[in-house]
Amino acid sequence: MRTTSLPVVGITSATVDVPPVKGFARYAVTHAYVHCVRQAGGLPVLLPHVEPELASEVLSRLDGLLLSGGRDVDPSLYGEEPLPACGESDAARDTFEIALAHRACEEGLPLFAICRGVQLLNVARGGTLIQDVPTRVAGALAHSQKTLRWDAYGHHVDVVANTRLAGLAGAPRVRVNSDHHQAADRVADGLVVSARAHDGTVEALEDPRLPWCLGVQWHPERMPDDPLTRRLFADFVEAAHRRQAEGSAKPAAARGVQ
Ligand code: MN
Repeated sequence: MRTTSLPVVGITSATVDVPPVKGFARYAVTHAYVHCVRQAGGLPVLLPHVEPELASEVLSRLDGLLLSGGRDVDPSLYGEEPLPACGESDAARDTFEIALAHRACEEGLPLFAICRGVQLLNVARGGTLIQDVPTRVAGALAHSQKTLRWDAYGHHVDVVANTRLAGLAGAPRVRVNSDHHQAADRVADGLVVSARAHDGTVEALEDPRLPWCLGVQWHPERMPDDPLTRRLFADFVEAAHRRQAEGSAKPAAARGVQ
């Protein structure tokens, strides 16, 4: 039996190969994710990639899952050939995270997806991605802003009424930062768009049938003091806390989730 009261939030990681010991990849996340989970009262743990078959084992130790940012998702995972402008992918990370996202949805585990995370969520649920917004979307906004200081907003997004995000945003239009060149294309069945940029780019997705499943295309963690960042992380960690209090989940079939 668990004795702690802090909800445990697993944060997925990237593999990086950096000095001083080149040739030995490390698992890494930016401190910003850890800071925001702590700020909201959660206990962050970093998740290395292990075999996709272990997704349920991993999730059984968690009260919430945070899919972090990173490289492009391999287009073959949504049935497309890579375009020249598509970036490199990380096969081990992709397959592990798809299994995690899939199982987290099946089990109703609170899931917060950020940047690559929301793209991964859409692919895991059967959707597709725009491989390169600048070259594929006529009149696209600059979604790769040069400055990403905590107070640097890139563009605004229009929030869809009657969504979880709308309740947290508190306004129909909010300013966000932007550091992505891909975005959701065909939205997976069961997910709804909860924000769009004014060039049409999907900026947030959620699953209204699940206890807490929300993804944003921007980087709230890079603006830790932004009011919407605080509300997003607080609401997510609160859901993780409820999950912890409830103990083991109800069978997925009881909620009609595939
Ligand atoms: Mn954007």
